[in-house]
Amino acid sequence: MPSSCRIAIVGGGLAGLAVAHALRTFGIKAEVFEAAPALGEIGAAVNVSPQAVKALQAIDLGDKIAAVATASPGIYTRNMQTGEFLEFNDRRKNAARYGAPYYTFHRADLLDALASGLDDSAIHLGHRLIGLEERADGIILAFANGARVEAEIVIGADGVRSVVRQALYGNDNPSYTGQMVWRALLKGADVPQDVLEPTGHIQWVGPGCHLLAYYIRGEALVNIVTQEDTDKWVEEGWSTRGDPDEMRASFPNPEPRLEKLLSLVTECSKWGLFTRPLTQNWGRGRIELIGDAAHAMLPNAGQGACQAFEDAYILARWLEACRDPAEAFANFRRIRIPRVHGVQRLSFSNARFKHMRDSAAQRESIAAGARSVHGNSDWVWGYDPVTGWDKEPFVPTAYAA
Ligand SMILES: Cc1cc2nc3c(=O)[nH]c(=O)nc-3n(C[C@H](O)[C@H](O)[C@H](O)COP(=O)(O)OP(=O)(O)OC[C@H]3O[C@@H](n4cnc5c(N)ncnc54)[C@H](O)[C@@H]3O)c2cc1C
Repeated sequence: MPSSCRIAIVGGGLAGLAVAHALRTFGIKAEVFEAAPALGEIGAAVNVSPQAVKALQAIDLGDKIAAVATASPGIYTRNMQTGEFLEFNDRRKNAARYGAPYYTFHRADLLDALASGLDDSAIHLGHRLIGLEERADGIILAFANGARVEAEIVIGADGVRSVVRQALYGNDNPSYTGQMVWRALLKGADVPQDVLEPTGHIQWVGPGCHLLAYYIRGEALVNIVTQEDTDKWVEEGWSTRGDPDEMRASFPNPEPRLEKLLSLVTECSKWGLFTRPLTQNWGRGRIELIGDAAHAMLPNAGQGACQAFEDAYILARWLEACRDPAEAFANFRRIRIPRVHGVQRLSFSNARFKHMRDSAAQRESIAAGARSVHGNSDWVWGYDPVTGWDKEPFVPTAYAA
């Protein structure tokens, strides 16, 4: 373990490992400090949209992620109680339209791909950051295991409860959204095929809630993830064990296919959703926040990790381009903040529309082409971080400040 290093990345989750990989691609060495005793992702699946796939391809991970990805044909949305078809969000032509496919992953497989090729000796496990001190010539990091490391630059990728953020901005806690998720993983072979017909990637929407079910690892597993407005307080963390009967009771009067799917759940977890309000506080001087530490958002545009992958690529480009890291970080924030704020607004607007209590009005809106349950994602997926890393991003008026 070094007592000093040029770049310290705090957090070895999706954001931290992606930026370590991106820096490595541009020949920049960094050390990762992760609190957990082993690298690993709890939770089941994650979707990665085309522009974020491009960011990963640009850091030489294209083949590795393709090997463990399932290419989603598209999401078929139904009403939760009646089973009525609402819309099909076709993703089969994404590669032609956006230049890269839309993938779903088991989170552990994606994390493994991000970790591959990184030097093990530069990943320091069991290092929980407890404080940092900014000095004129560097930053001193203090860890719970007693280690102290002096770094020239710090990248805070330590998630929604970021200690790096807290050290910079004080007790700036994320806020509970009043929404919770249930998650369950089933064996693909146990789920009758008609439940997930016709695309294997189905969404049910109902008043104040929705539920997604889709294959990952080919058709080996079915991931179920839900979201509902709730008055109950739920802890943050994938690992809070849930009661399958309570999960079923959250979706009253389900149509027969959904009822069948829910009846198969024997184990589940639940999680309260915490987010961060839109903020310009993404770091200062030689310290930069990325991923959920900077911009934890509602999952309703499927973009939290995707934006972290864009962060990783673009941050590495700026660090390669500027001799002064403070200048690199300032440029990074100038390019990233308007776009990410737009994506945060999109996620929020999608959540409100998906959870509309007036199902008839929701259906009419979709049928009239006024809105999709997925919102307008074209500007998000059509972005190219490789050509856009140094340009002011386009954000449609509806999602701009
Ligand atoms: C229900 C749900 C579904 C989602 N689906 C999608 C999706 O389909 N697509 C998508 O793009 N996004 C999705 N997201 C969002 C995505 O999961 C997150 O945005 C992403 O995991 C954030 O990665 P991160 O590395 O920034 O943070 P984290 O994954 O939280 O990783 C932070 C890492 O830092 C470590 N750490 C924490 N504190 C310290 C410390 N003090 N010292 C050292 N290490 C520390 C942690 O152990 C962890 O390894 C979803 C989120 C939810 C809740």
